[in-house]
Amino acid sequence: MAVPGKAAAFRLPPLPTIREIIKLFRLRAQKQLSQNFLLDLQLTDKIVRQAGELTNAHVCEVGPGPGGITRSILNTDVAQLLLVEKDARFIPGLQMLSEAAPGKVRIVHGDILTYKMEKAFPKYLKKKWEDEPPNIHIVGNLPFSVSTPLIIKWLENVSNRDGPFFYGRTQMTLTFQKEVGERLTAKTGGKQRSRLSIMAQHLCSVENCFVIPGQAFVPQPEVDVAVVHFTPLVQPKIQQPFKLVEKVVQSAFQFRRKYCCRGIGILFPESERLKKTEQLMMEADVDPTLRPFQLSMSHFSNLCNVYRKMCDEDPNLFTYNYREELRQKKRLPKNTSHSEEIEEE
Ligand code: SAM
Repeated sequence: MAVPGKAAAFRLPPLPTIREIIKLFRLRAQKQLSQNFLLDLQLTDKIVRQAGELTNAHVCEVGPGPGGITRSILNTDVAQLLLVEKDARFIPGLQMLSEAAPGKVRIVHGDILTYKMEKAFPKYLKKKWEDEPPNIHIVGNLPFSVSTPLIIKWLENVSNRDGPFFYGRTQMTLTFQKEVGERLTAKTGGKQRSRLSIMAQHLCSVENCFVIPGQAFVPQPEVDVAVVHFTPLVQPKIQQPFKLVEKVVQSAFQFRRKYCCRGIGILFPESERLKKTEQLMMEADVDPTLRPFQLSMSHFSNLCNVYRKMCDEDPNLFTYNYREELRQKKRLPKNTSHSEEIEEE
């Protein structure tokens, strides 16, 4: 958090307002790209405060657009600000900001989903994983269609300690649709507990900072927006590879309203489903009649550890794909094989 009473050493000179920038460069928001802008600089200051102390920090802002959040970041006196923006129309406005903060801003016209973050910052900033997080921060208000796949990709990077986490436990402050923010932070038993809750919370400490009402954006989206802060954990709560955890968690939540053993069962081919599911639930010490949202992190950790052991014993198990088996089954003429219709939700 910003230190109260401490004046930042750098302030941007007087500039046209964001509204004027939008007019000047004819930056009409493209609805199909879910572009919703923040024009209120008090609000963008509030978002940026959630990132923590940024003085002398190296910051990457994703999707700066007309530059509201960008201005707030620059006013905290960062050492360097890297802007990654996909839409070329915003680049001239961002260049104007760059000129107002000489030597501080680097603009990349590119897609954050493919941008090589492991090369984005100077190597000397790198910290050991166990140390305090490096003085590197990621901040962004992206379209929802980008922020969810991006956080999944970055959580995998946390697990592998690559991408932005090549430098250590880089912190992120990102916006999501309000419901996604609730899923990311939902606790055991919570209504919004889902795959995202487990994937995020087993790798990061996740804080749902505050909600921005849809009316604060121009044009106004149909939903409210959550600002969420992530700090990677020194020790993940589930000590298994990302893809394995993802498979177990995704399966468990496949049938949200059924007993958890129903979803867990789809980790196994139909021919041995009953026996192997029972073995997994017993060895993991998980009550099969719990609903998926009632499973705690330690339940998931046990399930992943036992499933890993079963995969080590049967090398074909991890590649087994429930949907593929379903598809194959549907191609067969009726009543030539299995009698059970597999129900999907
Ligand atoms: N940050 C600005 C604000 O708060 O007013 C703009 C927010 S707007 C919701 C999202 C911005 O992200 C747009 O400028 C859009 O062009 C940009 N964007 C969308 N997809 C992107 C991607 N894959 N990589 C980089 N920027 C992207």
